[in-house]
Amino acid sequence: MKLSQILGASGLAPLVSACLLPGEETGDGSHHLYRRQESGDTGFPIGSGDRFEGGAKFPRGLGTQEPGAQLDSLLSVKEIESAMKGLVNEYGIETFTMPYTTYENATMFGGKVGGRGKCSEAYHVYFNGAIHARERGSPDNLLYFISNLPRNSSSEAFSGASAFSEPETRNIKWVMDYFPKIRWYHDLHSFAGVVLYSWGSDENQARRPGMNFLNSTYDAVRGLIPDDPSAGIVYGEYTPSTDWSENVYAAMRTGNAMDAATGRHYEVQQAAYLYPTSGASDDYSYSRHFAYPGLNLVHEFTVEFGFGDENATCPFYPTAEQYHLNMLETGAGYMEFLMASTEIGLGDEVACSL
Ligand SMILES: [Zn+2]
Repeated sequence: MKLSQILGASGLAPLVSACLLPGEETGDGSHHLYRRQESGDTGFPIGSGDRFEGGAKFPRGLGTQEPGAQLDSLLSVKEIESAMKGLVNEYGIETFTMPYTTYENATMFGGKVGGRGKCSEAYHVYFNGAIHARERGSPDNLLYFISNLPRNSSSEAFSGASAFSEPETRNIKWVMDYFPKIRWYHDLHSFAGVVLYSWGSDENQARRPGMNFLNSTYDAVRGLIPDDPSAGIVYGEYTPSTDWSENVYAAMRTGNAMDAATGRHYEVQQAAYLYPTSGASDDYSYSRHFAYPGLNLVHEFTVEFGFGDENATCPFYPTAEQYHLNMLETGAGYMEFLMASTEIGLGDEVACSL
């Protein structure tokens, strides 16, 4: 999530340079960013060693441990990699790397879990995470969750994890092209305490198919919330009513499961009501089959886990308690998302050799 969006969404105004990404330091003039008192509180620490010993050990999610189990620290980048190697060694999970390296020259990678067959058409659910660097705990949540999945291997899931940001959208596109039967896409970010469903570009409408992002007639009015009737056009982004109701249903199931895990409340809403976006990767994934009818419909969801750490030098850095609550919530949300998506439908049954 972008800083200005977080500010607008959370009301958590004071932020410091520890949090800022290049380009955010000057701001756009609409927000006054100022330096918080230097508390030095950076939240739950990042691991300094390698608890998975280069893959000799594997992560075990909180769901498979005693209630109240605590993890020692956030996963470092090195540990994210060794945790994945541990899962490969323990469960035979296949991994792959994506073609576009980040600005820090890091390679983004993913893992394949379940799937009826070995071909790339056998995977229907895409969990994306760790796209934004400061969103601490995102890869941890995903890795610890998928460490539970091989025990319930009836789940068909594809999961991806990556280290640090950019050029993430090209890799997301690549993944969707490489796994052309992905039907469900779940993108994990922090922090806002929300589960978002499509569209992000404008308010949904289901009655006027011609009023859509492909129609340049509406280029000047798309993204305006609320609309300006005096301009003569009230715009809504077209979504077929079936998609709309399925998206709401899956998002509600996910949000309710996250609520039930800890008692904190996640708001479920259409993405455009949090902040209208244009050309974001979430809308991109749902837009593909409209723009290119040969492509698969992809239901897209963005989950912003957590609620911010107001005492830390950067609110994206969770306390130890928040880190564990976040993990319990995202784990429950992931599982419910898989069940809801399976119930609604994973798309074409794919026949490929096992
Ligand atoms: Zn983000």
